[in-house]
Amino acid sequence: MLGQMMQQPLLISSLLVHAERHHGEREIVSRRVEGDIHRYTYRELAARARRMANALTGLGLAMSERVATLAWNGYRHLELYYAVSGSGAVLHTLNPRLHPEQIVYIADHAEDQVLFFDLSFLPLIAAVAGRTKTVRHWVAMCARAHLPADAAGIPGLLCYEDLIEANHDRYDWPVFDENSASSLCYTSGTTGNPKGVLYSHRSTLLHTYAAALPDALNCSANDAILPVVPMFHVNAWGLPYVGCMTGAKLVFPGPALDGKSLYELFESEQVTVSAGVPTVWQGLLAHVQANGLKFSSMKRTVIGGSACPPAMLRTFGDEFGVHVLHAWGMTEMSPLGTVCSLKPRHLQMDAQARYAVMSKQGRAVYGVDMKIVDESGAELPFGSETSGELLVRGPWIVDQYFKGEGGNPLRVDAAGHGWFPTGDVATIDADGYMHITDRSKDVIKSGGEWIGSIDLENIAMAHPAVAMAACIAAHHPKWDERPLLVVVKKPGAEVTKAELLAFFEGKVAKWWVPDDVAFVDAIPLGATGKMQKNRLREQFKDYALPTA
Ligand code: ADP
Repeated sequence: MLGQMMQQPLLISSLLVHAERHHGEREIVSRRVEGDIHRYTYRELAARARRMANALTGLGLAMSERVATLAWNGYRHLELYYAVSGSGAVLHTLNPRLHPEQIVYIADHAEDQVLFFDLSFLPLIAAVAGRTKTVRHWVAMCARAHLPADAAGIPGLLCYEDLIEANHDRYDWPVFDENSASSLCYTSGTTGNPKGVLYSHRSTLLHTYAAALPDALNCSANDAILPVVPMFHVNAWGLPYVGCMTGAKLVFPGPALDGKSLYELFESEQVTVSAGVPTVWQGLLAHVQANGLKFSSMKRTVIGGSACPPAMLRTFGDEFGVHVLHAWGMTEMSPLGTVCSLKPRHLQMDAQARYAVMSKQGRAVYGVDMKIVDESGAELPFGSETSGELLVRGPWIVDQYFKGEGGNPLRVDAAGHGWFPTGDVATIDADGYMHITDRSKDVIKSGGEWIGSIDLENIAMAHPAVAMAACIAAHHPKWDERPLLVVVKKPGAEVTKAELLAFFEGKVAKWWVPDDVAFVDAIPLGATGKMQKNRLREQFKDYALPTA
C-alpha cells in the first residue's frame, strides 16, 4: 500500500519561492567588486532571478545545459544560483584560483555554453576566451558603465545588468523531475585530472534541510550568515540554499577576504554565523588580535575543508566567545558529512576535555552513513583505537563522476551497498565522533606503522612562533619514512629547531616526534586554501634527515 501524500518534486526554485513569500523583507548584503556595499531583499533577489531566467531562455539555453560562473560571493552570483538551476540548466561554478589551462580543460569537459564572470577575472577571461570550445556567450557581471574598454575584444560579450533590464520579472519556474541535474563542481584535483560531481535538485534540497539543522550548521531566520567559503567551493557549503530555506540574512564578502575587511563586515552587518577554511581565519584572528578588537555579534563559526588546529578553536572560544563548529566534508558529499556538535555529556566536561572533543571532525549528520574499515575491508567498530579508511554513503553523496570519469568510484559491501571511499584515514570513538588522522596519500609510514601528520601539525601550530606547519614524509634509510616538519614562522618571531622539537615532548608518543624541522617562507596552498603537501614532498624529496 502506498502512502497518500502529495507528490511534489524537491526543486531548488521552491527555496526561492519560499524565501520571497515568507522572508521577502529580509536583507542580502554584498561587498561588490565595484568597491561599494550593495543591499537588497529576498523579494528583489527573487524578481531579478526570474528576469535572469528569462534572459537564459532568450540565450537559447536548453534543459541541463551548463552555465559556468567565475565569481566571488555576491548577490549576482546568488541570482545565478537560482536562475540557472531553477530554470532547469546546470550551474557550473568554476574556481578562479585555478590555472587558465585547468579552467579551459574543465570548461571544455563540462561543455559550458555561457560563462558569467566578475570583472576582477577579466584578465583570466581574456586568457581563456579564445580557447574554450563550447562557450557561446561571456557575460560580465556588472552594469555597462563599469565595463572596461579592453573587455570589448571578448567575442560574444554581454553585460549582466543589460540582461536584467531587458527581461521581464514574470517567469513560472518549470516543474521537472527532482533527480534532474542542478549544479556541477569539479574536485580540486590534487591528483590527476579534476573530476566533475553533478548534484541533483533532490540531493541539494535534502542536503539543505540537513545543513540547517541545530546540530549541523544551526541556522535560523534570526541569524545573519556570512559565508567566507567561496560560492565556487562546493556551493559555499550549501549556505546560499540555507539562506532561502531559513530566511537568514545573507552577507557576502565579495573579493575582500583579508582580516580587516572581513572584520568590518562582521561588525557593520552584525553577523552571527560564518564559515570558512582555517587559513582564512588565521588572517582574521591576526587582525583582531593585533588591534585589540572584539566581536560584538558573532556566535558561531564553521571551520572545515582542512583540519582546524585546536589552538584556533581555543582562541576563538576563550578570547572571543565564538563557538567553533568543526566540520568535515568533500566535493563528492555536497559537501557536508560530519559536524562536531556536542552531546549532553560533553557539556559536563572541563574545558580541556571539551576542546579535545571539539577538535575532532564530529558526528555524522543524518543522511550520511559512515564507517571505517581495515586493510581487508572489514569494518572497525566505533570506539576501537585503530584508525581505518573512511567510507560514506547517502543521498547527497556521489554515485559516479560526470561522464563516468575514472570508472566506478564505489566499493560494494557484502550486503550489496555501494560506499564511497573518501581517501581519508580516521578513527571513530564510542560516541560516533570521527577524527581524521590523515589523507591516505599523506600518511607517514615509519617502520610499517602509520604516523598521523595532522596531529603533529596541530601541535606545531599551537607554538606561539608558528604561523603555519605541514608535516610530510621524508625518506629515511632505516625506517623508510620519518616525519619532517615544515614551518613558516610568524613575522618577527624566533624559534629554533631544537625548541620546536622539544615542544612535542609529552604530547605524542616518542616515535611520532618529527626527526627534523625545515623553515620556509611559505607553504604552497591549493585553489581551495589547503596546504599542497604533494608539492612539499616534491620540494623535499632529496632531504637528508639527521640519522644519528
Ligand atoms: P579536494 O579533495 O580536491 O581537496 P575537497 O574540497 O572536496 O577537495 O576536499 C575534501 C577533503 O578535505 C577531505 O577528504 C579531507 O581530506 C579534507 N577535509 C575537509 N574537511 C576537513 C576537516 N575538518 N579536517 C581534516 N580534513 C578535512
